[in-house]
Amino acid sequence: MSISAQQQQQAAQLTPCRFCNNVPTAQTKFRGHRGMIIMMQFRHVDGPFCRDCGMATFREMTSKTLIQGWYGYASFVITPFIVLWNIINRGKVASLAPPQPSPYGGARQPMDPGKRLLARPISIIGLFMPFILIIALIVIIVATSDS
Ligand SMILES: [Zn+2]
Repeated sequence: MSISAQQQQQAAQLTPCRFCNNVPTAQTKFRGHRGMIIMMQFRHVDGPFCRDCGMATFREMTSKTLIQGWYGYASFVITPFIVLWNIINRGKVASLAPPQPSPYGGARQPMDPGKRLLARPISIIGLFMPFILIIALIVIIVATSDS
């Protein structure tokens, strides 16, 4: 008989968190993006994450992407997809049970998940940034046109 999905899930739940060694964990990846006009930077952090370290990583990377992501033609298009990716994968860690020490030991205090994404001022400013950039671009075009 092949390994059942349930057994696979149990094995995954015993995989300790990469940051704090607590269980249960989910395997996922959170991404970050930074646009720097002509350059851009992609970041990612791989799991497995316990609930608290996963939420901390999700909030940190998503809020930074919202404020740092937009600056560049390609980055302007890439940033919403990075944010969407993180929001979709957030569910995998958000639904986990609270972190508990792994039976194999070595557990540390999990990360502080911190403030909710939309309770962070840089997230809110970041959400308005694409509109601010578009308005700024229109103003520059109008101000510099000869007609
Ligand atoms: Zn953890």
